[in-house]
This record gives sequence, structure tokens and C-alpha cells, in this order.
Amino acid sequence: MDAIRHPDVPLCDLLTQYRSLQAEVEQAVCRVLASGQAILGPEVAALEKEVADYCGAAYAVGCGSGTDAISLALHALDVGPGDEVILPPFTFFATLGCVLRTGARPVFADIDPQTYNIDPLQVANKITPRTKAILPVHLYGQTADMEPLWRIAERHHIAIIEDAAQAFGAEYQKKRTGTLGAIACFSFYPSKNLGTYGDAGMVVTNDPDWANKMKALRVHGMEPKYYHKYLGWNARLDAIHAAILRVKLPHIERWTAQRQAAAQRYDQLIEQAHLTQWLTRPVVKPQRRHVFNQYIVRVAKGQRDALVKHLKSEGIGCEIYYPLSLHLQECVRHLGYQVGDFPASEEASREVLALPIFPEITLEQQKRVVELCAAFVRRHNRLAA
Ligand SMILES: *Cc1c(COP(=O)(O)O)cnc(C)c1O
Repeated sequence: MDAIRHPDVPLCDLLTQYRSLQAEVEQAVCRVLASGQAILGPEVAALEKEVADYCGAAYAVGCGSGTDAISLALHALDVGPGDEVILPPFTFFATLGCVLRTGARPVFADIDPQTYNIDPLQVANKITPRTKAILPVHLYGQTADMEPLWRIAERHHIAIIEDAAQAFGAEYQKKRTGTLGAIACFSFYPSKNLGTYGDAGMVVTNDPDWANKMKALRVHGMEPKYYHKYLGWNARLDAIHAAILRVKLPHIERWTAQRQAAAQRYDQLIEQAHLTQWLTRPVVKPQRRHVFNQYIVRVAKGQRDALVKHLKSEGIGCEIYYPLSLHLQECVRHLGYQVGDFPASEEASREVLALPIFPEITLEQQKRVVELCAAFVRRHNRLAA
């Protein structure tokens, strides 16, 4: 009488990938353990060179996390009290937290509802003499609309810092993230497209002075040893993570192609199931290489949370990135923002849903996800009739 018990589909399956690289990863870890050099050192230097080369940039500086990367970039540019930094209200909190911790004032600019990225027209309206930097986020793996941002930045002599935590390998006009602003910030958190088994991050730039400054900042602003030129902090990268990331980096193009193929399959499955009115699929803009760190649909008719409940009850991993726009977070109540200030961001926070995606996801897993969405819609329509 029991229906077939289908296997669960995780939102992000890290173990399948680990098993495929287990021997190499373990060798790399053992190599570090036997080297006696646990922090920074040659593994980190080698990874820095490999990542800079991959991005097509001159310099990369490894650090402890994506959050460290954003903080290093802001401090390299001397962002501090009295300055303003323009950023989207629809991103992971770290983007905002790093700005607040410098003492600068975060100034939000609403998003483009199609791409979920910062809207350059909104940015133009927010420029003041105090604007020190624009901090676009390449959300879900697609770059922000850079060309108009470059024009604004040039006209007003302000720097662009890329939050590329979700967009390793993404491209805009054939240029990779890491080269789309003054400094780019990457995270190697496990669920990012290039991820380690712990925390790690990196900043990438073409400017030698900023690179050197960030190298000093990550070790308490020290330069030379025990002489502290800047007020830095501990933002160092562990050698074990650098060694693991060096095993993984040569696979990133294949993994990216697999993510893109999976996204295309979702696009087709959603269409074939006649769900396009219910699930608005991701929009990939021209001149972009979307690397699909997430596959995000917008759920219609206020049914997002009910669909999440249904999918979870059937063993499907899904997540809401992000359920509350940053201008409405409790810790920034003092900034005085209100509900309604950033309507596109607020609407997105009510409607977006991340479906399972990772390079190894199978067609069967994706069919199961979309079939469950279709079943949810059929039940909704029956009840509404
Ligand atoms: C993951 C992420 C960060 C922070 O990276 P950590 O390595 O977790 O510190 C920052 N911004 C965005 C958009 C992210 O997705």
C-alpha cells in the first residue's frame, strides 16, 4: 500500500564531490601536515597565483573567509567613519556587516527584480560627496550590470568592490569576476562554487599597492615583522584549505558547465510541466556567464512558503536566500529604514526559492523536484476550484 519512498534530494550535496576527489584531497592535507607550515606559506602563495591567473588579474591575497575579504577590501580603500558605501539590500548579511564595522554609512540601492542584482539607476540616485565605494553583489552567480556602474564610478571617482562570493568564474562581457572592479572578494565556504571544508576567502586586484596593503592587513597590519603600519587583524588563510582548494580549482570549469546544464534542465522541466506561470525562472542577461551557485525561482500567488513546506515534507532540500531584506534587520533599526523603502528587494524576499543545484545533481533528482512542484500546484488549483 505504501507509495515508493523516493530518496531525498539535498539542496547541495558536498559528499558526492568529496568522494570523487577523496584520494587527492587527503594527499594534499597530509602534504601540509608533513610540511610543518600550517598557516600561509607556499600553499597559500601558490593558490593566490593560480586564482589570480584564473581570474585574469595580477594579484590575489588569501584570507580567512569571504567576510574577511570584504573587510580587507574596504580597509584597503580607507573606508571609514564619514564615508558612504552603496550596496544592495538583498544579499547575505556579510556584505552589510563589513560596511557597518568600518564605521561607514551603508546606503542601500534597490535591486533589478529580474536579476536580483543592484540596479544601476538606483545607484546613480544615491551618490553624494561622501560616497567612497559601490559594493555590487553578483548574487546567485550572475554578475551585476557593470557597464553603467563603471560609468558612475568613473564620473565620481569612486571605487567598485565586487562581492563575488557567489560568483567564482562568472563573466561579464567576457571578463571574469575579479577584474570587474578595483578589488573583488571571494568566499571559499563549502557551498560556494569553489569551496573548501572550512572557512577561506580571497581578494583579487590589479593594483599592487592595494594588494600589498591587504597582505599586511591580514596579519595585523604588520610590515615588516612586529612593526605595525596599519590597524589590521587576523585574517590569515590556513595552508590546509589552500591545498584543498588547489586540488579543486582545476575542476571548476567542468563543475560550472555541469551547473549550467542542470539549470537548463530545470528551465526545460519547468516549461514541460506547464509551471512557468507559477515558477519564474532565472533570467540570464546578455553578455553574462551565469555560474549558478543557486538556481532561484520566484513563486507566484503568495504560495512560496507553502511550497517550501511541501518540498521539505517530501525530502527536498530548499532554502530562501534571503527571507528578510537587510534594511529591515533588527541590528540596523537605528538607520531608520521602513517597510516599503526598497520594494523590489522586499518582494524578492517574499517570493524567491532556491531549488537543489550542485554539479553532480542527476536528471532523476531534478525531475523529482519539479514533479513535486507540479503536484503542489495541482493540489492548489483543486482547492481553489
Ligand atoms: C558567502 C557570502 C559572503 C561571506 O562569505 P564567508 O566566507 O561565509 O565569510 C559574503 N557575501 C555573499 C554574497 C555571500 O554569499
